[in-house]
Amino acid sequence: MIYFSFSWDDGAVEDLKLMDLSLKYSIPGIFFIPATNPERGVMINEDIKRISVNNFEIGAHTYSHSYLTNVPLQKANEELFAGKMYIEQLLGKEVPHFCFPGGKFNSDLVNISKQYFKSARTADTCSIGHKNSYLIKPTFHFYNRGKKSLIFNGLKNSFRIFHLSLKNISCSDYFELIRKIIADLSSSSCTSYIMIWGHSWEIEKFMLWNKLDNLFQEISGKYPGNILSYSDFVKSQTKQNGN
Ligand SMILES: [Zn+2]
Repeated sequence: MIYFSFSWDDGAVEDLKLMDLSLKYSIPGIFFIPATNPERGVMINEDIKRISVNNFEIGAHTYSHSYLTNVPLQKANEELFAGKMYIEQLLGKEVPHFCFPGGKFNSDLVNISKQYFKSARTADTCSIGHKNSYLIKPTFHFYNRGKKSLIFNGLKNSFRIFHLSLKNISCSDYFELIRKIIADLSSSSCTSYIMIWGHSWEIEKFMLWNKLDNLFQEISGKYPGNILSYSDFVKSQTKQNGN
């Protein structure tokens, strides 16, 4: 059995395009959005509300897209709290999920974030199924990192990904290799939980919309009942770990 979930970071204006493409294939997802970002623009409040109204989840991503390992813990705490408050006040509902900007975290930051959130996503890749149900580690970055990155990160985080990357290394490119790994995992007797993450601005910058359209089409066509909302994905990890 194979399950999928999708998460998108940074709240750039191209998130609206990502929302439209997700709606086209009825694919749920979460958008992790800071209030401001020194590196690029963030959507206006009305657009964030529009994404939420279309049944996508919105998660916190600090207040100002702060790389939390670079700031004092007191400042990190403020960033975590203010980022959560910003989205909660905008949408009028609880925001239980968080994602570390730049994937930067350490054990102190994990502990502080637990005061405010039920899960925190990282940017480590090549994890499938999670030993730690609070930290959600993604499987594939939807961005051309190159085929070798799947082998190296697989070696670090999942022997199955490592093995399948090597086995299928003759695929034409990174995206093709991901599709082949997914096909192999789906035919295995083990259950796999695949978290795909990325940034709409990156998809725009590197012209990856067609590739994402193809992936959405394939996953929604072959595994229509196996695409989980982010909250359900997090719950499935908790169950899997028996907590
Ligand atoms: Zn980010």
